[in-house]
Amino acid sequence: MIRENVRRILAEFPSHVTLVAATKARSVSEINEAIEAGITNLGENYIQEAEEKFIRIKKKVRWHLIGHLQKNKAKRATKIFDMIETLDSPELAEVLDRECNKANKIMPVLIEVNSGQESQKAGIAPDAVEGLMEEIIKLPNLKPMGLMTMGPLVDNPESIRPLFKFTKDIFDKIGKMYEGRVEWRYLSMGMSDTYRVAIEEGANIVRVGTAIFGRRDKD
Ligand SMILES: *Cc1c(COP(=O)(O)O)cnc(C)c1O
Repeated sequence: MIRENVRRILAEFPSHVTLVAATKARSVSEINEAIEAGITNLGENYIQEAEEKFIRIKKKVRWHLIGHLQKNKAKRATKIFDMIETLDSPELAEVLDRECNKANKIMPVLIEVNSGQESQKAGIAPDAVEGLMEEIIKLPNLKPMGLMTMGPLVDNPESIRPLFKFTKDIFDKIGKMYEGRVEWRYLSMGMSDTYRVAIEEGANIVRVGTAIFGRRDKD
């Protein structure tokens, strides 16, 4: 099923959209099947789990961190990930920059925006994105490339459309402000139930788990 799911989803996508397979709690053999079917980008939520898979997955893929990053794990994150999608504070940015400097690495990062302003959700408040950008831009080892958002769980994908529009507006505004200074390119939003709406509203990275791998047993 994984193979068919990947092929069907990829066939549906415009070519400018990157499908990140959200692989938390999925086995290495499931992930390998997805890679054989055409997945080139993996999204992991947890450092430890990513490390265990990183040494076992032999195919060259791009690794995205899509879960919250604690400062004390920044060093380990720099070793695995090709992009951190969840940068959400100046403190984390500083620690990450320092670790990337030591590792001699320039890290592409997305700012995670709490677009729905949900109190329990990760991400920075929409009106704080600009301030965080000002900090990131001073850090030579981080490369800010766009925004990521989660948004609330919804029954009807249409109900999240306004939030995606809102996030795209922030994306465009920041892009304009920093034009010529940063390579502002990626808008990561949309999951299994919402990726179609997200793409319509300008997402060019979508993070999909269930629609590729089926429901997680743990849920
Ligand atoms: C699990 C997860 C996804 C994918 O969710 P599905 O509904 O299974 O597609 C996307 N983004 C993040 C941050 C996740 O943790």
